[in-house]
Amino acid sequence: MAMKLLFLGTAAAEGWPAVFCQCENCKKARKKGGKNIRTRSSVIIDSDLKIDLPPDTYHHVIKYNLDLAKVENILVTHSHQDHFYPEELNMRAEPFAKILNQKFLTIYGNEKVFMKIQNSVERRVLENSVKAKVLRPYEETNVGSYHVVPLLADHAEDEQCLIYIISKGNKTILYGHDSGWFPEESWKVLKNFKLDLAILDCTNGALPQIKYHMGIEGDIKTKNKMLENGIASKDTLFVATHFSHNGGLLHEELKEKLEPNGISVAYDGMTLEL
Ligand SMILES: [Zn+2]
Ligand SMILES: [Zn+2]
Ligand SMILES: [Zn+2]
Repeated sequence: MAMKLLFLGTAAAEGWPAVFCQCENCKKARKKGGKNIRTRSSVIIDSDLKIDLPPDTYHHVIKYNLDLAKVENILVTHSHQDHFYPEELNMRAEPFAKILNQKFLTIYGNEKVFMKIQNSVERRVLENSVKAKVLRPYEETNVGSYHVVPLLADHAEDEQCLIYIISKGNKTILYGHDSGWFPEESWKVLKNFKLDLAILDCTNGALPQIKYHMGIEGDIKTKNKMLENGIASKDTLFVATHFSHNGGLLHEELKEKLEPNGISVAYDGMTLEL
């Protein structure tokens, strides 16, 4: 069975060009346009599973002609505003939405995501249209037709940020951002899997830091460690995403540095079929 992914957005929190920014890298992105224009990160798999609910979701619905009523499950990585904008969920009930099959949308995430839902989503919506489920690191679960294993990321001190191993049929992917270098326990669990695709955090671009976010160097090290440990093979696809103007490299420059290392550079609207 195949999995089809659509990258809806590929930027870090501020977008690129960043929402209020006048730096050189944002100026260049505005001028060059095309794949240098990046909205807040999210991926949709097979039109029915979405990762994260960024503040650019409405733009994604228009740009990619999405039917979000068909998405019954959203995996949220963590509560940062570029990944989770819970107020939007208030639009998924009468009188703002008619959901023809009347099925609920289930949001999966950590405790902080769960609390944000309780605080920001209205009772009428929670009673009629949206459910929330807490996921804990390493507790596997079935989400629709997918098997999901949440792993702890190294991304924030005040919540358990999650990255996800997602399997369907005989295909397995890692949705691996936002993350610094993976904690040892996450590497241990990863060793039980053989990935067809690894999506990695490249926020820092040309910068070497691997704490809370990674860049090119961290992505290459991660790829090599996956190959050494049998988590990946020569057939595994690697994709870098979640780019920031502060990382310093535009799309073509990222390609020059990453593609020779066998890592593709994600862009808004990119599709992958496994
Ligand atoms: Zn982020
Ligand atoms: Zn900027
Ligand atoms: Zn974050």
